[in-house]
Amino acid sequence: MTVLDRPQPRPGVLAIDPYVPGKSGAKGTAKIHKLSSNETPLGASPKAIAAFKSIADKLELYPDGASTALREAIGAKFGLDPARIVCGSGSDEILSLLTSAYVGPGDEGVFTTHGFLVYKLAILAAGGVPVVAPEKDLTADVDAILSAVTPKTKIVFLANPNNPTGTYIPFEEVKRLHAGLPKHVLLVLDAAYAEYVRRNDYAAGIELVSTSENVVMTRTFSKIYGLANLRLGWCYAPASIADALNRIRGPFNVNGGALAAGIAAIADEAHVSDAVAHNERWLPWLTTEIGKLGLEVTPSVGNFLLIRFPNVPGRTAKDADAFLTERGLILRAVGAYGLPDCLRLTVGDEEANRLVVEALAAFMKG
Ligand SMILES: *Cc1c(COP(=O)(O)O)cnc(C)c1O
Repeated sequence: MTVLDRPQPRPGVLAIDPYVPGKSGAKGTAKIHKLSSNETPLGASPKAIAAFKSIADKLELYPDGASTALREAIGAKFGLDPARIVCGSGSDEILSLLTSAYVGPGDEGVFTTHGFLVYKLAILAAGGVPVVAPEKDLTADVDAILSAVTPKTKIVFLANPNNPTGTYIPFEEVKRLHAGLPKHVLLVLDAAYAEYVRRNDYAAGIELVSTSENVVMTRTFSKIYGLANLRLGWCYAPASIADALNRIRGPFNVNGGALAAGIAAIADEAHVSDAVAHNERWLPWLTTEIGKLGLEVTPSVGNFLLIRFPNVPGRTAKDADAFLTERGLILRAVGAYGLPDCLRLTVGDEEANRLVVEALAAFMKG
């Protein structure tokens, strides 16, 4: 049998390296602290958990395929027109839907050197050509992105703040990026960590979506809302783009448990402020304490930190990863993001944060 005797995926599909999620466990350690996927240490809102449970006796019913109540709740919360909100099974689904709607074979999609990996996967899956724009100081560079745009460009992805670097660009810069793009190029602003950002010059992008025809903002319930397990995300888009997404998405792409939990989560503002306060306390603490150990930490506005390790035998990121994993501290290796010298650390609960600093101190001394 030759390869031609079986179905062939479209060009590009086999060029994809499957996404490798953060590790979730380690062998033989007493207690595991999973600090590898930017999940919240506070868990989901108890109200969201109760709402999720409340649909357990209705599993035979299809969910509302239009996610109406959730879109209304999001619209009310952010002051947006629910008709221009599309919900998805995680914002990853929205990113894929946007790409398959607007990128075809041979079309180019632009993202930055250490940009979120899903962009490249989505572009390749659509048969498109990934184009990487260089960053400056681990931060998106608007001029470099604009220089990467060609007549074949259909989509530009910007994670703001970016994962795994934790860096962001001010809204003035996002507007300059938009102003420099041709009107037919779709600009996707991935604001997965927007709730965590405490900077006056930051905006997730609502204003740009409202005032243009080619900007979409994506958001997620996986991070600050603590609903990663349910897979729930959404986007705010121009009407024509929402229309295109609604044509190609699965008719019931968001499940009822996610819809119920999402509505309750959005109403629990206290839970979100607690999560912000927790991050406000521990992000700077971790940055300072890890910096004191002689490790380079990239200043982050998210709920995670990028730590650079020396290129010295016994002290590398790989060595640190093994050392920490043995102690039940699971960080994220980011070689796939072009950062082989780094590990990404999610802000954990107090116990985990203190253990990480102690373990890193022992690692650097050892
Ligand atoms: C976590 C993350 C997402 C969200 O993924 P979901 O599919 O909503 O869980 C999107 N973009 C970035 C940059 C992320 O880090």
